[in-house]
Amino acid sequence: MSPIRSVISSTLVILVVGLVVPPSDGADNASSASAVNGAHTETKFLIMPMPGADPVGLARFHAGNHCKLVREFPSLRNLQVLLGPEQVPLAEILSRYQNSGFVEYVEPDYHVHFENVFADDPAFLDGTLWGLNNAGQNGGLPDADIDAPEAWSAMTSASNVIVAVVDTGIRYTHEDLVGNIWTNPLDGSHGTNVLTGSTDPNDDHGHGTLVAGVIGAMGNNGVGVVGVAWRVQLMACKFANASDGSVSDVLACLDYARTNGAHIINASWGLDEFSLSLSNAISSLRAAGILVVAAAGNQSRNIDLLPRYPASYDLDNVIAVAATTRRDELYPLSNVGATNVDLAAPGSEIYSTAFQSDSAYAFDEGTSMATAYVSGAAALVRAAHPADSPAQIIARLLAAADPLPGLDGMCVSDGRLNLRKALAVTVAAPLLNGAVTSLNGSFVLRISADPGRDYVVEATTNLLEWIPVSTNLTGLTGSIVLTNILSGDTASQFYRARLAP
Ligand code: CA
Ligand code: CA
Repeated sequence: MSPIRSVISSTLVILVVGLVVPPSDGADNASSASAVNGAHTETKFLIMPMPGADPVGLARFHAGNHCKLVREFPSLRNLQVLLGPEQVPLAEILSRYQNSGFVEYVEPDYHVHFENVFADDPAFLDGTLWGLNNAGQNGGLPDADIDAPEAWSAMTSASNVIVAVVDTGIRYTHEDLVGNIWTNPLDGSHGTNVLTGSTDPNDDHGHGTLVAGVIGAMGNNGVGVVGVAWRVQLMACKFANASDGSVSDVLACLDYARTNGAHIINASWGLDEFSLSLSNAISSLRAAGILVVAAAGNQSRNIDLLPRYPASYDLDNVIAVAATTRRDELYPLSNVGATNVDLAAPGSEIYSTAFQSDSAYAFDEGTSMATAYVSGAAALVRAAHPADSPAQIIARLLAAADPLPGLDGMCVSDGRLNLRKALAVTVAAPLLNGAVTSLNGSFVLRISADPGRDYVVEATTNLLEWIPVSTNLTGLTGSIVLTNILSGDTASQFYRARLAP
């Protein structure tokens, strides 16, 4: 009990990120999945060479069209990223390649968008991490949470599980992340920055650091916040330094994560266009036994009808996540889909580690944050069941979800993540401790118990007849403090507390 309590009652520092991404960001590209109408990098594109294509002839074709090879993926059947000339419209270049006889397919290097929305309301001073444990604070619905304290009573560490945060990087020196950052045994780095081609994936934007803290900020260290997993290895794979990046840079990150032993990919981003290259890359992750946790997206739409990728790929190693509020309602901007969305998780007013300094914290919201919740949960499930395939981990998470009326028909499980059930933790009888003190003449009764539960406090003078004096919810800290609950008209009183029926 005590380690859990000390974490939940940790002092929280409130900072607000100065970046504001309007909710509509990323929703304005919904028009088309066809070749060049969607959002894409102006002159970059991807080609899959025809099997057995003559490399010399292909190189000559590149040169003849003033296209430069910028990256090649041997692990993805030699998929190539090319930079075309600015003078020629991309559609024209794509058409030349499509008709060249050298390629199996060609596609633009689409933009990938983060699925977060920055909250602008800093007025939360306690009970901040409602998604982990919700006692009804700040207008929430009691138990609209993932039952994290109950799960943590059995398991807190996924220290042998590597979660690749494919994002804007991670502030890996942050006071509440530093102990949970993966280190590359080959060079001592903490991941990759494919934008610069360096081994320094430090976060200069913020999204990745927020995601990382939700998955695995250090637990029970008396500092800051706490991740879903108290111990885990966070691999930083940086493909963007703004609110979006490109598919080709995502592919480079996925390639790095797979090659370097990641078990889970956190994909808090998406795009409307169907990229065959991205689909193939996720298939290759599947072959390597890697789970992809993908945001359903923040466009308030049904992605069974208007897909969002990678969430909508029909691959059994992808789990797609919608977002809920502290009242266990669907987050208004969250996408849904009875087929393409698997479950929901807390995704509004989420407080986490921030990139501005080693002690910065901030709020964020959206299916990005919900995705991070599921990645953290998946890490713990994988630690408990190391032989499970991605599909088996997904099955455990879906079977454990708490069905919610507001999610009926909105996703495969009709429910919100429940970590306790996913880990099959049976809750033992709650622990109770009590103490009576006198403070400046006041009579103070303190009771410590499970957080977020109702307890009936009873009093007696003869130990035979117990009289209920009050029913109290233990808040986030798992404590009840009662002052002068009975007038001092009795020489001696005894007290007890029990779980409310
Ligand atoms: Ca709960
Ligand atoms: Ca912490």
